[in-house]
Amino acid sequence: MHNQDHCKHLLSGLSDYVDGELEDSLCRELEQHIANCPDCKIVVDTTRMTVSLYHAASGQSEPMPDDVRQRLFDCLNLGEYTRNTT
Ligand SMILES: [Zn+2]
Repeated sequence: MHNQDHCKHLLSGLSDYVDGELEDSLCRELEQHIANCPDCKIVVDTTRMTVSLYHAASGQSEPMPDDVRQRLFDCLNLGEYTRNTT
């Protein structure tokens, strides 16, 4: 069964996940989820790859600045997942 709300909930932690800063329990939840959810797997794989390319290209190991990250996620059409909604 596909549960969009669950996807959204998990992808809201994606930004921390690719930084390796997501708490362990959420990390495991996300990894279990993408094992069964191809849509989210693509999103996670794409983001992880893009972030590692960023690090390779910039030579920085620091987390991506928030504004760069937000632009990236907007490009990937992930803005809705990662933007802090007000
Ligand atoms: Zn999903």
